[in-house]
Amino acid sequence: MPSNRSTKIAVIGSGLMGSALAKAFAAAGHEVAVWNRTPSKARAVGGGTVAFEHLPEALSGRELVVVSLSNYTACSELFSSETVAAALAGKTVVQLTSGSPADARGGLEWARAHRVDYLDAAILAFPGFVATDYATVFYAGSRAVFDRHVETLQAIAKNSVYVDEKIGSAATLDCAILEAFYGGTLAVLHAAAMCKAEGLDPKSFFAQKNSFLGLISVTADAAQGMIENNDFSGDQCSLNTHVAALEHIVRLSSDARISSRFPKELLENYKRALSAGLGDKELPAVFSTLKQD
Ligand code: NAP
Repeated sequence: MPSNRSTKIAVIGSGLMGSALAKAFAAAGHEVAVWNRTPSKARAVGGGTVAFEHLPEALSGRELVVVSLSNYTACSELFSSETVAAALAGKTVVQLTSGSPADARGGLEWARAHRVDYLDAAILAFPGFVATDYATVFYAGSRAVFDRHVETLQAIAKNSVYVDEKIGSAATLDCAILEAFYGGTLAVLHAAAMCKAEGLDPKSFFAQKNSFLGLISVTADAAQGMIENNDFSGDQCSLNTHVAALEHIVRLSSDARISSRFPKELLENYKRALSAGLGDKELPAVFSTLKQD
């Protein structure tokens, strides 16, 4: 449930995401100050937000500070100013800039040294989805700090998920989901290119969306149990058989003169599991070879 209490918030960064976040907080009844390196973009946010040219002024009297910049380096540069650090002391910073778990750990170290409460967060949404049911935000860090602000934070995503006390956990989960997304998307695009190159309308492939998404879903469920039990044996389909299927995909790609880089990379990964003696195991057995890289 969105909060009834109006919180004084500063949003640092008025890019595509920062602007959407600021407007969502303002629409939920919060008092929102915005600051951006290029001031005209902060002034353009509107929606009841107030733009400031100087960052310490934007931070003055705020309880919650939300950061949405291109990367952590940009944030570190801003926070290295003594005046900005002093203006942040005693406040809660929610870092919504995307980064790695190591970035999050660096952020927490800085926050501890400057008496700042700190949550590292990752948003799983396009700006147009902010404040809708399609937005999810993962949070990591102190549970008490999360609990103190969760009602306010639900203005940007009702689905505000506390992941873990470990500060890198939200970034880890975000990277894991994004890898599945980008890898899966490249596979889908390559599959469509194969169809087109072979003269099959890609719409025949897209019509089977539920088939391949279902296969991935069933395999993910099986993989979870196998990884937990460190037991990849089964009676459904051996890795040897899967590798033979991948070889057909590489061959089709080469014959049809489209890029075979992606299926070759897949094949190489799965074949490595055969070299490790896992040919008679089920597909998720590949998991146990990934550490070796
Ligand atoms: P964007 O539109 O390119 O905005 C980038 C923001 O960072 C701008 O406010 C820019 O200021 C600021 N910035 C960059 N370098 C800076 C520096 N050295 N000092 C001060 N400010 C600096 O990007 P975005 O799409 O809003 O993304 C912002 C964050 O949200 C990223 O970490 C991104 O990964 C994450 N995210 C975005 C999406 C999405 O769909 N857009 C989804 C999930 C997560 P200027 O205006 O002055 O250049």
